[in-house]
Amino acid sequence: MTRRENILIPKPRSNFVSIQCEKCGAKVVVFSHTTSSVKCSGCGEVLASSSGSKALISGKVLGVLDQ
Ligand SMILES: [Zn+2]
Repeated sequence: MTRRENILIPKPRSNFVSIQCEKCGAKVVVFSHTTSSVKCSGCGEVLASSSGSKALISGKVLGVLDQ
């Protein structure tokens, strides 16, 4: 199952991305190079999953938080 709204984070540098769940509106901050799936704390929807070296973001990206 592929979602068109998935966004690959191209930056080689590690950072954190603020994501809003499109189902329940909860905001979650995930590591851009996460190696494990990140689920919404509100509804359990998978918001980010590992795809090689980059995280596959499936929620609404609110912004990138530089370290
Ligand atoms: Zn949610």
